[in-house]
Amino acid sequence: MDCIFCKIIEGSIPSKKVFENDRVLAFQDIQPAAPVHILIIPKKHIPTMNDIGSEDLELVGELFAVARQIAKEQGIDEAGYRLINNVNSDGGQVVYHLHIHLLGGNKLGPLLA
Ligand code: 5GP
Repeated sequence: MDCIFCKIIEGSIPSKKVFENDRVLAFQDIQPAAPVHILIIPKKHIPTMNDIGSEDLELVGELFAVARQIAKEQGIDEAGYRLINNVNSDGGQVVYHLHIHLLGGNKLGPLLA
């Protein structure tokens, strides 16, 4: 499959993993936009938020649970952090495999600056 994140899941493209189980993988973003910038993805190939099915809702919940756990492990849960999901072209999505950006580690600017 011609999907960068599927290749990261299967290991043919290396990544710095911070969490993995049978359903979810989290790894460092290659171009960090903040001191902490981690991508949380389902191992199932779901292209965008628009493609999430009713059968995926538990999985999507797990993505957020993993994001919260990683924020705690990174020591940024109390100070705060930001979760972002870009959808399609106008939303700035570049990689068409569902992912949540976990950003933190300093005071983030206004979202729409
Ligand atoms: P999007 O704009 O689709 O929401 O975000 C895609 C993110 O994936 C970007 O922040 C980009 O830096 C990251 N990214 C793209 N290719 C790779 C890669 O090969 N490895 C890693 N670790 N991150 C990547």
